[in-house]
Amino acid sequence: MTTLLAKNATIVVTMDDGRRELRDAGLFVRDGFIEQVAPTAELPTSADMVLDLRGQILLPGLVNCHHHLDQLLTRNLPAAQNTNLFPWLRALYTVWSRRTPEASRTATIIGLAELACSGCTTAFDHTYVFQNGCKLDDQIQAARELGVRFVAARGSMSLGESQGGLPPDNCVEKEDAILADSLRLIQQYHNPERGSMLQIVLAPCSPFSVTANLMRESARLARERGVRLHTHLCETLDEERYTLDHFQMRPVAYLETLGWIADDVWYAHAIHVNDDEIRLFGQSGTGVCHCPSSNMRLASGIAPVKKYLEHGVKVGVGVDGSASNDASNLLIETREAMLLARLKMGLLPPEGPQTLLPTSHPLRAREWMTARKALEIATRGGAQVLGRADIGSLEPGKCADFFTLDLNTIDYAGALSDPVAAVVFCAPQRAHYIVVGGRLIVDKGEIATLDIAPVIEEHNRHAATLVL
Ligand SMILES: [Zn+2]
Repeated sequence: MTTLLAKNATIVVTMDDGRRELRDAGLFVRDGFIEQVAPTAELPTSADMVLDLRGQILLPGLVNCHHHLDQLLTRNLPAAQNTNLFPWLRALYTVWSRRTPEASRTATIIGLAELACSGCTTAFDHTYVFQNGCKLDDQIQAARELGVRFVAARGSMSLGESQGGLPPDNCVEKEDAILADSLRLIQQYHNPERGSMLQIVLAPCSPFSVTANLMRESARLARERGVRLHTHLCETLDEERYTLDHFQMRPVAYLETLGWIADDVWYAHAIHVNDDEIRLFGQSGTGVCHCPSSNMRLASGIAPVKKYLEHGVKVGVGVDGSASNDASNLLIETREAMLLARLKMGLLPPEGPQTLLPTSHPLRAREWMTARKALEIATRGGAQVLGRADIGSLEPGKCADFFTLDLNTIDYAGALSDPVAAVVFCAPQRAHYIVVGGRLIVDKGEIATLDIAPVIEEHNRHAATLVL
């Protein structure tokens, strides 16, 4: 039995149902789960590990709902810097297919470490190119080395160029092999229990890279085994044209025919949707992952996040793959979720809200995305999207997943009238401490679970080889 005491935090943001924020407070942890969240004076006075959080803010760990960690090998590639999604993908598919299992390991560790330093304690990853001996197992092992909570998708592509898909034929797999490997991974690794450090998700890549059959069969297998489903949807108007041309349906209608509108499904991006589709997501419990940096970087558009929230749609935040961001910093993403919602609010119809009232009008007050709402979708929202009741807030019985930020920095100076909002309004800071399941992953801003310097060196070597 091990205990952890985190005490003396200037403020604790619980994100519990009452959204309580406690001054001079902390929490007490036993065996990876929170036992008490309270003012410091009410907490036990000792524990196996004690963190003194004087001058720091303590928040629930952020939950990342969309990423492609392997893309850490191809950040900022010149050939893919100034294009939208389809040419960007065409420039990268083959490069990704050449990565090795060793490269996949370093990419996973670096990406998860970068996420952790930005406050992320649970990370979802969506890898979908499995060539050259690469397996999801490589990434699962790497995530264990670092120690963050991991939700790993067995992604897939089965519709090559010769069959009318976007990816080259040498980047796709046979459907039987995909489904067999999906089943193997679920049986070998998926842990559905409270406090699970590893879950498996099935995630055929997109409507233009997998067949309808694989979408249906993946859904059947996922439901039979009790795992969730994920894919990219409504990311670009090119995708919409693709499904209209091939299936005479908009992307959401097409996915509905495949059994993919349900509360065990969430979509990355979900930008180009109409009001009926938003309502459908809300009614069915279908979730979305908002990826603001990627959407701006690839000129994809602005997701209607406030409208989703108004209609009760589950919304989380994701950094998206590191070839379209090119950072794995979830605090940056949280900030951009707030800013981008405000930009959308200021646009005129049809891109903006259906009103000509000025943004300062009292009737439009509810449209403002606040800093606290942005933090909420990055924590509680992400937990809902991933179907996790054990993370996303700091409450007794939940996983001891949290991070702290030092408030006495240049970047927060003058903003401490509201330290909680400062976390989103001011420049994103590096986490001081990160704790996952009661275990210290980041200690005073540095990765504590492994020696990261040699991994960075090795990762750069792999990246350089890949683009030759
Ligand atoms: Zn993506």
